Amino acid sequence: MEHGDDFSVLGDNLAEANDEILDPIYCTDPGKETGNLSCSSSADFCYLCSYMDSTLSMNDLDLNSHIRVLLEEGKELPAIVRAVLDIYNNELRDNCVDDQGNAAPEWKASSVTRHLLHNNPDIFVSYTESVLQHLIVRQSQNVVDRTTKRVNHTERKALLESIDALAKWKQRCKPARSKRPATAMD
Ligand SMILES: [Zn+2]
Repeated sequence: MEHGDDFSVLGDNLAEANDEILDPIYCTDPGKETGNLSCSSSADFCYLCSYMDSTLSMNDLDLNSHIRVLLEEGKELPAIVRAVLDIYNNELRDNCVDDQGNAAPEWKASSVTRHLLHNNPDIFVSYTESVLQHLIVRQSQNVVDRTTKRVNHTERKALLESIDALAKWKQRCKPARSKRPATAMD
C-alpha cells in the first residue's frame, strides 16, 4: 500500500511537470532566438560580429590576436573586455558603421563580454575555470560549524566534489593548452 501511495504522488508530480511549457536552451530558428545569451539574440552593435568575423574585416588591426595575447598573460575576462574596448574606441570606432548606418557606433562592455564568452573557446575555458575557483573559495568559507567548531560533512563533501570537478576540468583542457609548445619543440 505504501508503494502504491508513493507511485501516485510521483504520478502527480510528473503530470505537473508535463504541464509546464519549456523553451529551448539554445534556439536556432531564425527570428526566434531572442532567449539566447549569445550575440545572435542581441540588437547591440558588436564589432567582432560585424567586422572581424566577417568579410568586412579591417586587416590593419587584428583584434583577435590582441585578445589571444591578453588571455595568454592570464588576464581575467573583465580586464580583457576593458582592453578590447580601449583598442576599439581609440583605433577602430571612427571607421565603423552599424546595421542602421550610424557612424562610430558604441560597442558596449556587455556586448564585448557576450561575444567573447560565446564565440571564443579559450575565453570560455578560462571563464569556466574562474567559476569553479569561485565555487571552491565560497564553499571553503562555510565548512566549519560556527558553534561546535567541527567540520560539517555535507559541506565538506560538496567542497571536495568541486575541487575534483576543477581538477578534471583542468586535466581535460591540458592537451589543448600544451599543444602549441609541444608543436614548437618537434
Ligand atoms: Zn558578437
